[in-house]
This record gives sequence, C-alpha cells and structure tokens, in this order.
Amino acid sequence: MTALLEGRTAVVFGVANKRSIAWAIAQQLHAAGARLALTYQNERLALEAKDLVESLPGTEGFQCDVSNDAEVTRLFERLQERYGKLDVLVHSIAFAPAAELSRPFVETSREGFRIAHDVSVYSLIALARAAAPLMTDGGSIVTLTYYGAEKVVPKYNVMGVAKAALEATVRYLAYDLGKQKIRVNAISAGPIKTLAARGIAGFSDMLKGHVERAPLQRNVEAEEVGKAALFLASDLSTAVTGEVLYVDCGYNIMGF
Ligand code: NAP
Repeated sequence: MTALLEGRTAVVFGVANKRSIAWAIAQQLHAAGARLALTYQNERLALEAKDLVESLPGTEGFQCDVSNDAEVTRLFERLQERYGKLDVLVHSIAFAPAAELSRPFVETSREGFRIAHDVSVYSLIALARAAAPLMTDGGSIVTLTYYGAEKVVPKYNVMGVAKAALEATVRYLAYDLGKQKIRVNAISAGPIKTLAARGIAGFSDMLKGHVERAPLQRNVEAEEVGKAALFLASDLSTAVTGEVLYVDCGYNIMGF
C-alpha cells in the first residue's frame, strides 16, 4: 500500500519540544511519507527544534511568531519558494498570560482576553488565509481544541472561551475554503502533560479525573492524537470538514 501522505507537503506549527502534541503529529505525518516544514516561535526555540528537525530526514525548520503578520507573510513566501505547493497545515498553538489561568474567570483582563484570542484563534485565520493559495490541489487544515470550549473546566478560564471561538472559526473557515477543496477540522484532545498544560492549575487532577470518568478508563497518548491528525490530514477523511473530532478516551460523552 502506498503511504498515505506520499508526495504531500505539510507545515506543522507548535513544536516546542518532544512532549508537544505537534511533535507527535509531525512524527505520524512523516511516517506516512509527508515532507515536513516545522515552525518554531523564536530563536530561543530554534536550538531545541534543531534536534527534532534533524531526527526526521527531509524536514526543515522555519521561524514564525504567529502573532506577527510580517512573519506569517515571510514564512509563506519561503514555503512557496521552497515547496511550491502545500497539502496539509497543522495549527497546534495556544497561549494565555499565566495570570488569566490562576485568578477567577470574572477577573479576566481586556489585554489577557485579547492576547489569548489573538495567539490561539486569530492565528488560525491568518495561517489559513496565507496557506490557501499554496493548496492548489485542495488541502487539509487541522487545529487542536479542548473540552473546556463547551463545559466549564475550572481554571481553564479565558482559554475555554478562546477554544469556543476556535471551534466556531473552524466551521466558518470550512465554509469559506470548501470551494477550494480545503478541509478544516479540529481535534479535541484529552489532557496530555505538555509545556502548555503545565500552565493550567490543577492539571494533575484533570488527568486523574479523566482516568476515573472516561469510558476507556485511561488518559490519551500524544501518539493517538497524532494518528487522528493523520486521518484528518489524509484522503481517509475526504468528506470530513468543519468537525470537532474527540480524541479523549470518550470522556466527553459522559453526563455523570
Ligand atoms: P506545547 O508543547 O506547549 O505547544 C504549544 C505551542 O504553541 C508551543 O510550541 C508554543 O511555542 C506555541 N506558541 C505559543 N504562542 C505562539 C506564537 N505567538 N507563535 C508561534 N507559536 C506559539 O503544548 P501542547 O499541549 O502540545 O499544545 C498544543 C495545542 O494543543 C494547543 O492548542 C493546546 O491548547 C492544545 N491542547 C492541549 C491539550 C493538553 O492537554 N496538552 C489538550 C487539548 C488541546 P512557545 O513554547 O514558544 O510558546
């Protein structure tokens, strides 16, 4: 059988280190034959990313802070020069100032709200707009969300509101880009211990709660999120767009 992504090019945003969900996704896309571009936010992270980039032959690293329009434009110019066309874009990025995740939600600051939505939501719109002209044979865009978009997860605060906006953004982008055969979907992942997750107070209780309540009685592995992303990135899911796919051991179906 031909590899699912043979001859395809994918750009993956959000690899901070080897625990990143983006890294688990990158590994699956690479194993399926994709040529990869990985992006990192700044020069400080370039060093960490270097080893990861080198461990997947044929992969290249690019710097891009997604909150900076000029950097986004420059990145896609470089991707066009280098690869000509793109098939897959993975957006695995979120950020909220630490203070917003520790005080009560009602204390959310205007600036904290703005930053969380700019980095975690608007960036998907900016990246989709920049990627679309390069997706000349159609394409697949995948982002990462969390259950706190729908139900209150104490301390997830403004990130929950941003994830709700992200899920709505997925649907609006799917509508706009569908005529170009570009699909846009989100994966709602169960909790996984990563750098970003460490910023959420009570994260270990979340892990424990999932084991207790999820039908599969365990937590999800990053590798499993990677495999779901491969499904959404590949021709296995050609009629799926605008969806939120739960990869959470079934936690979201429970009422009690
Ligand atoms: P992670 O390894 O810390 O990844 C978050 C990434 O976002 C980092 O690479 C981070 O780079 C990047 N980022 C933040 N601001 C950026 C900016 N302005 N420009 C470019 N990149 C920026 O954590 P993760 O858990 O894998 O998170 C990936 C995604 O999965 C997020 O959307 C998160 O909300 C989602 N998710 C996570 C879980 C979980 O339990 N871990 C569950 C469901 C969904 P820096 O390190 O440079 O800031």
